[in-house]
Amino acid sequence: MARKWIRSSDIGVLVKSMSGKGYTAADRDWMSQAIELAKLAAAAGEVPVGALLVKDGVCIGEGWNNPIGRCDPTAHAEINALRNAASHLHNYRLPNTTLYVTIEPCTMCIGAMIHARVGRLVYGATEPRAGAVVSQLKLPECAHYNHKMVVVGGVMGEQCGELVSAFFRAKRNAE
Ligand SMILES: [Zn+2]
Repeated sequence: MARKWIRSSDIGVLVKSMSGKGYTAADRDWMSQAIELAKLAAAAGEVPVGALLVKDGVCIGEGWNNPIGRCDPTAHAEINALRNAASHLHNYRLPNTTLYVTIEPCTMCIGAMIHARVGRLVYGATEPRAGAVVSQLKLPECAHYNHKMVVVGGVMGEQCGELVSAFFRAKRNAE
């Protein structure tokens, strides 16, 4: 699938996210790309979550949720994108990057982002059941971490959430 990556120079007006923090038109464009990655997960029968990592306006890693296909409980979209970016940069630290993900991350993925020193997290829909950013836990706000991330939520949240809802609707109807 051909994807055209946009650059940060395309940044437009600042709009308000659900959390009240600002996000840019470029953030929306990257989230649209993450949604395309989520659709790859859905096509493979996996819960549709997509993620990508951006540094200096360039995508340096991408991933989608595929723990079933990989027989790997850690193969969440965010982890796959972090692994992809780290091997691309030959560095286990990924400072000054933004991670875009369609759904609020879980405890494992927030932990991995902190280990990687991701600078900014932009997510789409909240995950009331297991979200570790605002829903069940607020891990990025924990004072004991020696790394702080900027967090912006609710970017294209409706579209991101609807992908997951549609996936489970189709699953239920097939049963
Ligand atoms: Zn996760």
